[in-house]
Amino acid sequence: MSHDLLAHLSRALPDMRMLSEPAETEAYRFDETEYMRPGRPLAVCFPRSTGDVVEIVLLAASHGVALVPRGAGTGLSGGAIAVEGALTIAFTQMTSILEIDSTNLTVTVQPGVINADLGRAVAEHELFYPPDPASFELCTIGGNLAENSGGLRCVKYGVTRDWVLGLEVVLASGAVMRTGGKNIKDVAGYDLTGIFVGSEGTLGMITEATLRLLPQPAAKLTLLAFFPSVQAAGQAVAGITAAGVVPVTLELMDAFTIAAVDDVHRLGLDRSAAAMLMVESDAGGAAAEAELEASEDACRQAGATSIVRAADVQEADWLRQARRAAHGALERAGVARMDDVGVPRSRIPEMLAEIERISAKHALRVGVFGHAGDGNLHPTYIVERDDPDAERQIDAARDEIYRAALALGGTVTGEHGTGVAKRRWLELQRGAPAVSVMRAIKQALDPDNLLNPGKVL
Ligand SMILES: Cc1cc2nc3c(=O)[nH]c(=O)nc-3n(C[C@H](O)[C@H](O)[C@H](O)COP(=O)(O)OP(=O)(O)OC[C@H]3O[C@@H](n4cnc5c(N)ncnc54)[C@H](O)[C@@H]3O)c2cc1C
Repeated sequence: MSHDLLAHLSRALPDMRMLSEPAETEAYRFDETEYMRPGRPLAVCFPRSTGDVVEIVLLAASHGVALVPRGAGTGLSGGAIAVEGALTIAFTQMTSILEIDSTNLTVTVQPGVINADLGRAVAEHELFYPPDPASFELCTIGGNLAENSGGLRCVKYGVTRDWVLGLEVVLASGAVMRTGGKNIKDVAGYDLTGIFVGSEGTLGMITEATLRLLPQPAAKLTLLAFFPSVQAAGQAVAGITAAGVVPVTLELMDAFTIAAVDDVHRLGLDRSAAAMLMVESDAGGAAAEAELEASEDACRQAGATSIVRAADVQEADWLRQARRAAHGALERAGVARMDDVGVPRSRIPEMLAEIERISAKHALRVGVFGHAGDGNLHPTYIVERDDPDAERQIDAARDEIYRAALALGGTVTGEHGTGVAKRRWLELQRGAPAVSVMRAIKQALDPDNLLNPGKVL
């Protein structure tokens, strides 16, 4: 039956790239959650148009074969990992930027466009697309939409959802649906765009998106503040927020991460500090100066031992790139498993103390960094590659860390999504009534459970 499907697909879409040999499909089984155990896909398809996607969905449905949408595979919750016997649909050949509309400040794209490529393309028109996950040179807009991804500019500009005006989605029935267009205000009926953003490929295939843009902001001013404890850095975050400052970037690194990043990038960071904050303003001119001065005051009050400004734009770029590469730097110390929790910003010092306490209890090496300005932290567990006990240790620690985040009014995932990794904690956070509404939506849109089965719910 399944091989019948591949023959039908080859006949219906003779020009479409399709991989079916295990040696070829192996690379498409995993995302960045290396520790997961994915299934083996029947094949991997590379559609080039919405029409191709419709054809794949209809043929797969008629053969009862499930579908796993996939962008660049940088996901950190297992959303794109292969399902045994399913077709993986890789959107990496749907990379057209269909329209940049400078009058309406919108851009319309296919889902395979890389986030950083989109940023560069709109910058040529002096426009700006704010969401920028640290993985922005690799991840796709389709993945960003499906995960409702965050990034380093969320404190000021919000997450992916805040920039979506409309989507084109291929539903499980094969119907092509549009949820909106270029209207800034549009409240006709239910907010269907909102349902698909963050749905992790379980409700439909996103084949096009119209996104909001801004005029390009001013060049950034950047400062680094070093602290004697991670809690002091957490207090500075709370202080900056309480002072009414909205920096574009407010990122944290602990001592372990500072050393790892400095080993790789040789930036001369203060390695004696227990934590570092990176604060940036793109407000321009005097407003930017005022934001950084108020941030410096908050850092001093929280006990910062030193505060330095980036000497110029290039130094600021190096610092930002080093922060984006924090996960890679930690990987040099062993297998680095990046986690993701969030708390209201005022609770950051308590969350940091909980991470420290829980990792010490489980004798785990943990590097902590993240988007502290959003209350979003990435405790990253570092273990030896062949340590037979590592999996059990991490599982015990992360269960306690998630429960600590929830006790502080937080979330078990700020931006990486539920996927497979966080399914177990979804009901604990959202409660049974909310999860049953999610199940009802899934049932209504995908009654045969063919779209990314086993993910989220
Ligand atoms: C080093 C590193 C840093 C990261 N930093 C950040 C960060 O700062 N902020 C952040 O939020 N995340 C971050 N991530 C996580 C990841 O990059 C994001 O979740 C990203 O949006 C995934 O995009 P992708 O193209 O790789 O999607 P994939 O991993 O391929 O897929 C992610 C999900 O989207 C679904 N999907 C993909 N395309 C479509 C489509 N067209 N239609 C429907 N569903 C689709 C998949 O089924 C899956 O559920 C980071 C990851 C790494 C490795």
